[in-house]
Amino acid sequence: MQIYADNAATTQMSEEAMRTMIDTMQNWYGNPSSLYRIGQRAKEKLEEARAEIAQVINAQPREIVFTSGGSEADNQALLTAAILGRRKGKNHIISSAFEHHAILHTLKKLEKNGFEVTLLPVHENGIIRVEELEKAIREDTCLVTIMTANNEIGTIQPVRQIGEICRSRGVLFHTDAVQAVGHLPIDVQEMKIDMLSASAHKFHGPKGTGFLYVRKGIALQNLIEGGAQERGKRAGTENLPAIAAMAAALKEAAAGMEENAAHMAEVRDHLIRGLSEIPHSALNGDAVQRLPGNVNFSFEGIEGESILILLDMRGISASSGSACTSGALDPSHVLLSIGRVHDVAHGSLRLSIGETVTTEEADYIIQSVKEVVAHLRSFSPVWRDLTEGKKPFILK
Ligand SMILES: *Cc1c(COP(=O)(O)O)cnc(C)c1O
Repeated sequence: MQIYADNAATTQMSEEAMRTMIDTMQNWYGNPSSLYRIGQRAKEKLEEARAEIAQVINAQPREIVFTSGGSEADNQALLTAAILGRRKGKNHIISSAFEHHAILHTLKKLEKNGFEVTLLPVHENGIIRVEELEKAIREDTCLVTIMTANNEIGTIQPVRQIGEICRSRGVLFHTDAVQAVGHLPIDVQEMKIDMLSASAHKFHGPKGTGFLYVRKGIALQNLIEGGAQERGKRAGTENLPAIAAMAAALKEAAAGMEENAAHMAEVRDHLIRGLSEIPHSALNGDAVQRLPGNVNFSFEGIEGESILILLDMRGISASSGSACTSGALDPSHVLLSIGRVHDVAHGSLRLSIGETVTTEEADYIIQSVKEVVAHLRSFSPVWRDLTEGKKPFILK
């Protein structure tokens, strides 16, 4: 059996997105900035994609700026808020400890440039508390940036309430919605979102393309200087084949959202029930306020990386809670932010299932994880210490 359970890392492109991409490469190869008809037809195609994307999140087409993906959109949103804030003498930014690195690393850079950053605590269920946000807002706060849904533990933040608080206090609100767009209903008007980042490859579109929603009236600042594309806010000839494919993928995702989410949540809960039977394990993040496709567990007495390798040998592609792939053996900052200690965070597994997952596949995953965890524990020195009572168990 081959099961791809790492859709939070990236998704497979849909047939429709691929077809659109090839068709655009073949038939709309003109430069949208050129004045002859081939260029103008490409321009029309570009604007059609922009309108389709805008409609899905209830924005106006001119509020959508195409970027190279979620990371660029996050960077541009934060830079914009910082520059606009500084002009008014506002140098304070509020975020959370479990944001994506595209946010956290940009915040670090802003700190080096004189901004002050408050990271809200995330709490054990992986959700911020709006009362704490209200308290953290100051006279000099220029931005609140809180992700819509977390990429590791799948928890969904109270975005609507955050939007309301920010709007009433006159603070810009940006949300990294990369895990949410195409998976959860998003309405930027109703949720009072000022800026929102999205990435095509997280909803069955192509990699290397995404968009930033910027509410009308906010003077977006450039990251990339050059030509006058994207109303002068993002230079560089537009990646039209990818943009058209992104629009196709998003339309498809929006049309099937309700049905897909219901199915995935059912399989997700089946997985959670099955994996909960493993002794000394725990689900990470709230069981209800979470993405329909996300399952994240910690297992005491093992290391996440070894689970991944053994699961891969059984045909299952998943992800772990540490950033070991980057060379460092640091446990995930997200798991640490919800209070998991190093040892426990190390033995974590993220399964992010796709729309086509079946209950049979879920059963195979449960059986495989049970076997792999038991096998790894059988020769783990940490597990021996725990069972011999030399160290107390942390997870029940
Ligand atoms: C994947 C991801 C990003 C980065 O998006 P790219 O398009 O890969 O740059 C940012 N934020 C979150 C929450 C993500 O899951």
